Amino acid sequence: MFELNNITEMVVREALQDYLRQAKPPCTCDRCQADILALALNRLPPRYAVTLRGEILSTWESRALPSHARIMSELVRAAEQVAAAPSHPLPAENPG
Ligand SMILES: [Zn+2]
Repeated sequence: MFELNNITEMVVREALQDYLRQAKPPCTCDRCQADILALALNRLPPRYAVTLRGEILSTWESRALPSHARIMSELVRAAEQVAAAPSHPLPAENPG
């Protein structure tokens, strides 16, 4: 069915996966990923578009998206914030 999706969110979710592979933050659990997404998305403009089974039907959405550099800088900022104050205790570092 037709759905309304925030294209910024879809792009930021993909960018987060790239970022986690490269940056290796102290925790990448679902909770910490959700915290990073929430912090980053609150600082980026939402861009809603109509999608059908995940396919974007609007054609104007990509022009209106924040730049990749802007998205990555917000992700880095959000990840640093979560790493500094995680929502849950991190397990003690295991040197093995
Ligand atoms: Zn975590």
